[in-house]
Amino acid sequence: MLKKHVPFLLLLIFSCTYEDNSMNPFLNEYETPFQIPPFEAIKFSHYEPAFIQGMKEHLEEIDVIANNTEAPTFENTIEALERSGKTLDKVSSVFFNLQGSNTDDDMDSLQRTVSPKLSSHNDSILLNKKLFMRIKEIYENKQSLSLSVEQARLVAETYKRFIRSGANLDQNSMDRLTEINSSLSSLSVQFDQNVLKETNSYSMVIDNEDDLDGLPDEEIRQAALLAESEGEIGKWVFKPTRVSMYPFLTYSTQRDLREELYNSYIQRGDNDNEFDNKKIIAEMIALRQEKASMLGFESHSDYVLDNSMAKTPENVNKLLQTVWEPGIEKAKGEVQAMQELISEEGANFQLAAWDWWHYSEKLRQEKFDFKEEEVKPYFSEEKVLEGAFDVANKLFGITFSERNDLPKYRENIRSFVVEDSDNKVIGIFYTDFTLRPNKGGGAWMSTFRSQSKFDGDVIPIVINVCNFPPENVDGVSLLSFEQVETLFHEFGHGLHGLLSNAQYPSLSGTSVTRDYVEFPSQMMENWAREPEVIKTFAKHYQTGEVISDELLDKISDAGTFNEGFATTEYVAAAHLDMAYHTDKNTITDIDKFEDQALKDLGLIDEIETRYRSTYFGHIFAGGYSSGYYSYLWTEVLEADAFEAFKDKGLFDKETADKLKKYVYSAGNTDDLMTQYVRFRGKEPEIEPLLKKRGLN
Ligand SMILES: [Zn+2]
Repeated sequence: MLKKHVPFLLLLIFSCTYEDNSMNPFLNEYETPFQIPPFEAIKFSHYEPAFIQGMKEHLEEIDVIANNTEAPTFENTIEALERSGKTLDKVSSVFFNLQGSNTDDDMDSLQRTVSPKLSSHNDSILLNKKLFMRIKEIYENKQSLSLSVEQARLVAETYKRFIRSGANLDQNSMDRLTEINSSLSSLSVQFDQNVLKETNSYSMVIDNEDDLDGLPDEEIRQAALLAESEGEIGKWVFKPTRVSMYPFLTYSTQRDLREELYNSYIQRGDNDNEFDNKKIIAEMIALRQEKASMLGFESHSDYVLDNSMAKTPENVNKLLQTVWEPGIEKAKGEVQAMQELISEEGANFQLAAWDWWHYSEKLRQEKFDFKEEEVKPYFSEEKVLEGAFDVANKLFGITFSERNDLPKYRENIRSFVVEDSDNKVIGIFYTDFTLRPNKGGGAWMSTFRSQSKFDGDVIPIVINVCNFPPENVDGVSLLSFEQVETLFHEFGHGLHGLLSNAQYPSLSGTSVTRDYVEFPSQMMENWAREPEVIKTFAKHYQTGEVISDELLDKISDAGTFNEGFATTEYVAAAHLDMAYHTDKNTITDIDKFEDQALKDLGLIDEIETRYRSTYFGHIFAGGYSSGYYSYLWTEVLEADAFEAFKDKGLFDKETADKLKKYVYSAGNTDDLMTQYVRFRGKEPEIEPLLKKRGLN
C-alpha cells in the first residue's frame, strides 16, 4: 500500500494560543544533514501554528500568481505553482507520516480538526477562477510554447487536476463541492480512527493453558507479552489484527476460540456502538455520488477511473471477471480438499470461514511437507532487508549505507543514505518496521520530501513502514515468507520514490495513477520469489546456514497453494468497492448491500471478502475508492514485465536499465502506457498473471 499526504493543499481560524514562531522548526530552514526534518526538535505544539502559517503563505503565493498582470506563461504560472506551498508541505509531510506510524490522542485529535481545513484550503486553490483561467490559456496554447515532454505533461496534468476539482463549475456548485470535500475528509478520518479503536478495544484473553493447544512457542510468548502490556499478568491475549490473529487461526486446535477471534476481526466497525462505521459509509457513498454528478460523471467510479489506466468501470469489471471465474473454481476445490481432511480426522462439521487457515495449513503440510514456522528462522528482518538492498544494487547500481547520526522520530527506526554508482547521494531511506499499538495496520511507503530538479536538486526522503513481528527471545524479528514479499513490495514503492529523476515535484516518484503505482512495488516482489535471490539472504539467524534447496522447492511448490482463496477474497473486495461506487440508488443498509453484492458475485460462505465494508480502509479512508482493483491491474503489468527478466536473466543489464529509465525513474513525466511499451516493447498481456496465480 502507498500512503500520501496531500501535497497540494481557505484558511479557517484555529483556536490557538500565542506561539513564538522563531523556535518552530517547520518555519525555519532545516539545519540537519540533507535537510531532513529535525524530528528530535519537533514538538506537538509546533504543528498547529505551522499549518496556519503554511496555509497563509500558500494562499499569498497563489494570490500573486493569480493576480499577475503579465500574460500567463509556463514559468509565471505552472512553474510558480510547483514552487508554492513549501512550508505547508514541510509540516504536512511530517504530521501525516507520524500520525500514521507513531500517533497519540493529541495527533489524532489534530488530524480530525486539520483535515477538513486542508481540504477547504486545497479547494480554495483548485476553485480559484482567476488562477484557473491562466492555466486554461496555457493549456490551450501549449503546442506553441516549445515545452519539453515533461513540461507539456505538467501543463496537461495541472489542467486536468483543476477540471476534475470543479474549476469549470458555477459559484454555487463550487461552494457545494467545497462542503462535500470537507465532509468527506472528516468522515474518512473518523472511519479510520474508529477501525483503530475497535481493533484496540477488543482482546481475547486466555487464562487456561490448555486453550493454547497447537500454538507455536513464539506465538504463545508474544501473546503473554501482549497480555502483560494490557495488565493481564500470567494470561495470554490475542487481538483482531492480522499479526496476532493469523497465527492463532492457523495453529489453534480450539475451534470455538478461532471463531471468537475471527468474528471480533470481521465485526470491527459493525457493532452498533460509538465506533460503528455503517452510517459513515452511507454518507460517504452519497456524497461521492453527488460530487461525481456535479462534475458530469455517471458514477463515482466513472469519475475516478477517468483518471486511470483502466479508464472505465467496464474495463475493471472485465478484468475482475476474467480472474474471478478460475479463482472461485479453484477455491471450491480447496474447500472440498479441506472438508475431506475434516472427515478423515473424524470430525463432523462444515468448514467455516474461521477454519480456513487451520485446515489449509494442515493441507499445506500434508502436500508439501512444509511448515511456515520451518522457514521463518531463515528470514530475519535484517537479512531480508539486506537482500532487498542487494537486488536494488544488482539491478540499478545503487547502494544503501546505514547512518546513525540522522534525525529519527523514535528509537528502532533505521536510516540509510542511498548513493548511485558514481557515489552521488540520490536519497534518504528510512525503515520503521516494528509492530506498535500506536501505528496504523498493514504496511506502506511514504515520503517526507519528494524529488525534484527544477529549482536545484532536491533529493527524496522516503520511508517504509511495516508491522513486522516483535523480536523473539534472541532479539531477532523473524518474517514469514508472506512478510518477506511485503518487505520487497514496500521496498519497490521506496525505489520508485528514491530513483525518481523528474524536474517537477508533482510529477516525480509515486505521483502516478493508482492503477500504476502498485506496479513498481509488486514488480520487486518477483525477485523475492526467485531461489537464486532468496539464497543470498535466507540464512538461519542462529547458525548462518543458507536455506536448503529442498525447503526452497517446497516454498516454490507451495507458491500457488491456496491461490483460489487468495484470488477470491481479493476479487470479492474489489467487486464490493466497484459495486458501492457504480450503484445509482441510495444505499442505506450497509450490511444488506454488502451481502447482496457478494452474493451477486457468487462468493461462497467459506470465504469472507478480504475487507468487509466497515473496516475497508483502502476505500473509505485511504484514497483507493474505485481503486482496490488496482493491485490486480498492476499485477497484469508486473507479471508481464517480469517475463522479460525470465527470458533474458534476472539481472540482465539492458532490461534493468530500461526498467529504471522508463519505470522507476520516470514518475509521471509522460503517458504511463507509453512508458511501459518503451520498457517492454509491447503492451502487457494477461496470460503471465494467470500462470503466476496458477489459474490457467
Ligand atoms: Zn503497495
